[in-house]
Amino acid sequence: MTHTPLSDLSRDDLAALRDQLQATYDELKTRGLALDLTRGKPSSAQLDLADELLSLPRGCTDRSGTDVRNYGGLAGLPELREMFAELLGVEAEQVVAGGNSSLSMMRDVLVYLMLFGGVDSDRPWSKEGVVKFICPVPGYDRHFTLLESMGIEMVTVPMREDGPDAEEVARLVAEDRSIKGMWIVPTYANPAGSVCSQEVAARLASMETAARDFKIFWDNAYALHHLTEEETKSADILSLAAASGHPHRPVMFASTSKITFAGAGVAFLAASVENVRWYLGHLGHGSIGPDKVNQLRHVQFFGSAQGVRDHMAKHREIIAPKFAEVDRVLTERLDGYGVARWNKPRGGYFVNLDVMPGTASRVVQLAKEAGIALTPAGSSFPHGQDPHDENIRLAPTMPPLDEVSEAMDGVATAVLLAAVEKLLDRG
Ligand code: PLP
Repeated sequence: MTHTPLSDLSRDDLAALRDQLQATYDELKTRGLALDLTRGKPSSAQLDLADELLSLPRGCTDRSGTDVRNYGGLAGLPELREMFAELLGVEAEQVVAGGNSSLSMMRDVLVYLMLFGGVDSDRPWSKEGVVKFICPVPGYDRHFTLLESMGIEMVTVPMREDGPDAEEVARLVAEDRSIKGMWIVPTYANPAGSVCSQEVAARLASMETAARDFKIFWDNAYALHHLTEEETKSADILSLAAASGHPHRPVMFASTSKITFAGAGVAFLAASVENVRWYLGHLGHGSIGPDKVNQLRHVQFFGSAQGVRDHMAKHREIIAPKFAEVDRVLTERLDGYGVARWNKPRGGYFVNLDVMPGTASRVVQLAKEAGIALTPAGSSFPHGQDPHDENIRLAPTMPPLDEVSEAMDGVATAVLLAAVEKLLDRG
């Protein structure tokens, strides 16, 4: 059913609707719900898919006969690097297989850049005075808090369906040499679900930057996390950058956190061979090698790159119905009122919900008081500040399907109630 836009309703109609919604909301509160749509975590059923890992590895030597129980092999097991090179569309020599967290790798790269500078830097970034980063918004909260923790200033640009606004990025980086880098989640972005096109990637790879050691932190956390049968290919940033004369600009990150175990997977970094050497050089001062036992386990579990793709299809079977349910409930409850927009992601872990400007915090508060935990409003913006107070990130993967339905119904009530309150307030 399509509803009448709230903006077409008279004040009396709005007041009547408010009373009706308030009654629905009060009833919701009596249910004593404890639902959680906050963090993009895999559900237990998804984790169960990789339980065979718990009885691996068989034996303790890799392909070359190296004993994986011992020290060494800082770049990771060659066979795992090859497998993920194929999946990430890069060369094996450009890949490092590390510990369980790609976010830690991002943090390390940033720390090394700040303390020592990159392969193409004149000096450490921390010696440059002000350091700024371009942050497409909405974006991943931990990217922003990481920058904030190091005193790096954030310059926002809009995230569009085909990636960040590349013209705006190009304009900013051309004139400000304190802008040293940018974040991008190129495939099924957190939270907007957008996919960076080859054209946008080409523009970012080739643009002139005032800082000659400008870096693109290409966080491809959801590269393989398709929600439909169409396996969208990520833009080929390393080749594009090399072809346009900036081979050291991109540093790519990925992990198996949402493929096998979020707490015990393997993370990857991919970059130019010189960048890889630079990264391992610094890493080597603090590590004698990664957890190769876990890496061998992953090699045996997957068998091949195709094994990873097949495994991801099993994840899709579990989570795609949850995303469909989010869309079904939102459409049924909110379509036509003109107070909310949401995306239908084709991959990744999030649904991006934009509510009536000025009401996102109220929606989150109403949901919380009814026992439905949502990510705090503003989380997808630097310093937690959404200038329009309209963006809410929904993460439906973790709760079971019936809880997703119940939570979304409650969220829809909160969205409508907050919008009606706002409209009546204005009048
Ligand atoms: N990057 C993005 C965009 C994410 O959404 C997440 C987790 O939610 C991560 C990185 C974390 O990755 P990892 O588990 O490999 O540290």
